[in-house]
Formats: sequence, C-alpha cells, structure tokens
Amino acid sequence: IIHLETLIGIIGLARKNNNDAYTKNDISLLETVSHQAAIAISNGLLYRKLNSLNLNLKKKVNEQTRHLNDLLKIKDEFVKITSHQLRTPTTIIKGMLSMILEGSLNNDAAKKKQYLDQAYTSVLNLERIIHGILGASDMTAGKLLMTFEPVDIKEIAEKLVAERGHLAANKAITLVTKDFDLPLPKISADKLKIREAMANLIDNAINYTPKGEVCVSLHSSQDNSWVSFCVKDTGIGIKPEEKAKIFRKFTRTEQSTMVNPNGTGLGLYIVQQIVDAHHGRIEAESQGENTGSSFKITLPAIK
Ligand code: ADP
Repeated sequence: IIHLETLIGIIGLARKNNNDAYTKNDISLLETVSHQAAIAISNGLLYRKLNSLNLNLKKKVNEQTRHLNDLLKIKDEFVKITSHQLRTPTTIIKGMLSMILEGSLNNDAAKKKQYLDQAYTSVLNLERIIHGILGASDMTAGKLLMTFEPVDIKEIAEKLVAERGHLAANKAITLVTKDFDLPLPKISADKLKIREAMANLIDNAINYTPKGEVCVSLHSSQDNSWVSFCVKDTGIGIKPEEKAKIFRKFTRTEQSTMVNPNGTGLGLYIVQQIVDAHHGRIEAESQGENTGSSFKITLPAIK
C-alpha cells in the first residue's frame, strides 16, 4: 500500500480457499482496495498527528495562560504595594512641609524641627522603596553587575549585628550571635551585594519578630568547601503554603502587613538573585504561624 511514494502497508495474500490462481480481476480488485486503504490509512495517520498537535497546542496555551495570570497577579501586587508605599510617605512629607510653609510653626522651633525630621524620615523611606524597585527591576533584566573578591563574611556579619543593636533593643528583641569565634574560610563575592543580602535577612528577622530573640550564626562544612550564614528568629513565622511564595517579587504574607506595614515584598527576591549569582542557595524554615523562622544562605568557599 503506497501513498505519495511511501510504503505505508502491505497486504499479505494466502492461498485461495478453492486453490485457484489469482485472476486479473482479483488483482485489479486488490489494487483498488490498496488505493482506498492508502487514502484511509494516511488520513488516519494525519488525524492522529493533528490530534496530538492539538493536544500539544492546548497544553502550551494553558501554560502560557497560567504564566500570564501569574504575571497579572504580580502586576496587581506591584500596583497595590507601590501605590500604598509611595502614598504614605508622600502624604506625610506634603503635610509636614505645608504646615511649615503656612508659617503657623514660626514661633515653635522645636515643633518645626520635629516636622522636618518626620518629613526627612519619609524621604528616606521613599528612597528605600525606589531603590528596592529599581534594584529588583535591574536584576530581572539581568543587569546585576558584580565585582568578585575574597570576602570574609564573619567581618560583614559582625558589623551588621553591631549596627542593628539599637533597632533590636527598641523592639525588646535580644540580638545574639552564635559560633562567630569559629574559623571560617573566605568566599569569592561582591562584598556590597552579599552584605545587602545578609542585611536583608537580619532586618526581616527584626521586622517580623514583635518581641523575642534573633540569633545570627555562621557555619562552615567539615571540608571547608561551604560557608553558611543563618538568621533565626522567634517571630510571626511562615505558613507552610506561603514558604515558596515569599521569594517572588512583591509577595508578602497576610500576617506580615500588620507587623511591618512598610515592606515591599522585594527583599527576598533580591536576596535570591544575589545568592544565585554567587552560586549559593537560600533556604527558609518555619514550623508555621507564630513559631519563628530561620533563613540560611549557603555559599561556596574559596579553596
Ligand atoms: P518585605 O519584608 O519588604 O515584605 P521580603 O521580600 O524581604 O519583603 O519578604 C517577603 C515576605 O516574606 C515578607 O513580607 C514576610 O511575609 C515574609 N518574611 C520574610 N522574612 C520573614 C521572617 N523572618 N519571619 C516571617 N516572615 C518573613
């Protein structure tokens, strides 16, 4: 059975029941049957191919739709978070400055200073939010420029903890360190970027712990091929179903907005990008709501 010069089947003939030879009529009948069969078989094959193409197409469209829906959700979150985050400090700055310009505070230097201080804090807040948004968008566009050098993460961790002492004390949080005295190999890293990632984890632990303890610890693997930086807190914790989502851009857990209304949901996304660029990994652990959390960055050490 031949279709478009391709053999697509064979008809096998046995001896006739009456033992007669095949006649010319038999052969021409068989030829007609084989022509028809060729068309039927090739149609069947085409139909099967079309069907599987259809299924594939459907799968692809579904995948793309899911992806688009995810992007739409991220866009909604972006608009919701940025409009809230940008509006709050802007309103404060406008309010404070308009009162000063009005002149009603001309005789009250202390109050004037207090209002200017508040406006200044709000400007810093705005700057932080804009820095976060631009940083995340640079990373998404693959514009993460880094300069690698041997870096001692113990030195960075010590400074970060010292700088955050007052923040923790203001919130009745004990900020402690563990295993800082053990020897730790250096890593090859962009010092500023890795510092940013480590700072983010400590800041998050302080922000999401109303009161209790934040413990920063350092470790290295036995063969000195890996170092890790771990921040463990006794704060609001993370529900199991939310653990994977918190590394996405503009994603925050429900409880977090009450404890830290100023968050943008960008920090962990940025941390993840930085850690990836250093060929490391980041892990989050929590037993659930109000059970505390721990975040660990593991990075390859210099041999
Ligand atoms: P932000 O803190 O600005 O919201 P992040 O990307 O740093 O953004 O964190 C994303 C979310 O992950 C937070 O909004 C919070 O819900 C959750 N999260 C991060 N760190 C902690 C932590 N230490 N404890 C509990 N939840 C956390």
